[in-house]
Amino acid sequence: MDISSQEIEAIVRQVLSGMSPTAPAAAPVQRTAVPQPALGCQGDRGVFENVDDAVQAAWEAQRDWASHYKLEDRQRIVEAIRRCARSHVEEWSRKIVEETGMGRYEDKVEKHLATINKTPGPECLNTEAISGDAGLMLEEYAPFGVICAITPTTNPTETIINNAISMISGGNTVVFNVHPRAKQVCAHCLQTLNTAIVEAGGPENLLTMTREPTMENVDKMAANPKIRLMAGTGGMGMVNALLRSGKKCIGAGAGNPPVIVDETADLELAGRKIYEGASFDNNILCFAEKEVFAVGNAFGELVRQLQKQGAYLLSSAQTEQLVKLCLQPDPKEGWSANKKWVGQNASKILEAIGVKVPDSCRLAVCQVPADHPFVVAEQMMPILPVVQSASFEEAVEQAVAAEHGNRHTASIFSKDVDHMTRFARAIETTIYVKNSATKAGVGIGGEGHCTMTIAGPTGEGITCAKSFCRRRRCMLAEGGLRII
Ligand code: NAD
Repeated sequence: MDISSQEIEAIVRQVLSGMSPTAPAAAPVQRTAVPQPALGCQGDRGVFENVDDAVQAAWEAQRDWASHYKLEDRQRIVEAIRRCARSHVEEWSRKIVEETGMGRYEDKVEKHLATINKTPGPECLNTEAISGDAGLMLEEYAPFGVICAITPTTNPTETIINNAISMISGGNTVVFNVHPRAKQVCAHCLQTLNTAIVEAGGPENLLTMTREPTMENVDKMAANPKIRLMAGTGGMGMVNALLRSGKKCIGAGAGNPPVIVDETADLELAGRKIYEGASFDNNILCFAEKEVFAVGNAFGELVRQLQKQGAYLLSSAQTEQLVKLCLQPDPKEGWSANKKWVGQNASKILEAIGVKVPDSCRLAVCQVPADHPFVVAEQMMPILPVVQSASFEEAVEQAVAAEHGNRHTASIFSKDVDHMTRFARAIETTIYVKNSATKAGVGIGGEGHCTMTIAGPTGEGITCAKSFCRRRRCMLAEGGLRII
């Protein structure tokens, strides 16, 4: 009697569930074949020594994932990822602070939870159908295949969780090249998620990475025909390198989000929300408020409101001391951040120039002209420059210049609808927030889904599973299958 591998698997499942009456019923995975790992491809729950092995394992997993698992299986496995990640939020948040030395534990917990709860799964992959005289057209979201995903040091495991949910929901598998400064916590996260995936009935190696991430590995993946898409989250140097790779790319690059506060604004609200957003995780987020342009009379009161929230107001001499400490001249950008101070607590940065403030003081504020280094540089520190603009028009001009054409994120505090619209049109950012902290634009205290990969340069915007899929069309002509 001939017996297929699918039938063997079903029999084994039946026997095992009979042996353990308390065990949950096995997941209804539809397989037609059990893939065997190729020689030399064995990793440690997704972590490989060699990049070619990581790609090969993810490639085999993708064939299995796309061919033998249904949408309901993807949904179940995404839920398993969410459950697993939720139970490790505190641990990963603590480990990130230890390994990268940046940011605030409590804010990392909030970022993780937003990512876990608000990254859409396969349910967002809606089929589009057009039924007409000439027949029935269907357009569906199909996988690319294996994706190389480059992740930043500023949201290391948050980006792994977010990209993993989005990418595998679309039927893809992923080879991560994580930031070397966060490689340990990323490996732990990836292995833990892979274990949860396998326990929920999914294949091994849906997510892979190399133990030692390197630029050379990125180049190798760009040249490997098994990698169908490169998705990079990080600075513009990395995004520009990806764009030159010749592969299909999704690039999520730097921001330097400006805020305009005009004379019609609720200044108490502006002070409260700007303090909250600019100090969140010590300002290492690409979408966090980096500089403020306050129009005319709004300037003085806004600074007072920021102080009322707990901000320390720097004198001009202290501001210049901080420029020397925290920034360095950069031949390309004009100024760049001294990495030693990126993501540090305001109290620690201020202590270095002899100012003692309690740790509850989350932000330092300085009053500067529009071309000041703290305005120009994407410094990612809880130091917020506030510029007094003579008019709304001047504020818009200064904000557009400070954003450097990144078209990433901007916000406005105003009750003037015309101002809101004019700034939106001029700044052209992917995220545009009115009267709240910019993090509301990724669903943290706002509506809409969350992402840690905001793809401005390549246009996918607030990415989700759809962003990592190919559109495929099926056309059934001659009116077939229509019911009217
Ligand atoms: P980074 O550019 O130093 O590193 C990001 C990743 O790219 C890392 O994995 C790094 O190893 C890799 N990398 C760097 N140069 C590369 C190159 N030439 N080729 C291939 N890979 C390269 O950035 P970071 O310090 O980790 O993160 C902060 C930066 O990322 C900020 O500029 C921030 O605005 C941006 N960011 C953007 C988003 C977004 O969604 N748009 C999200 C988070 C961070």
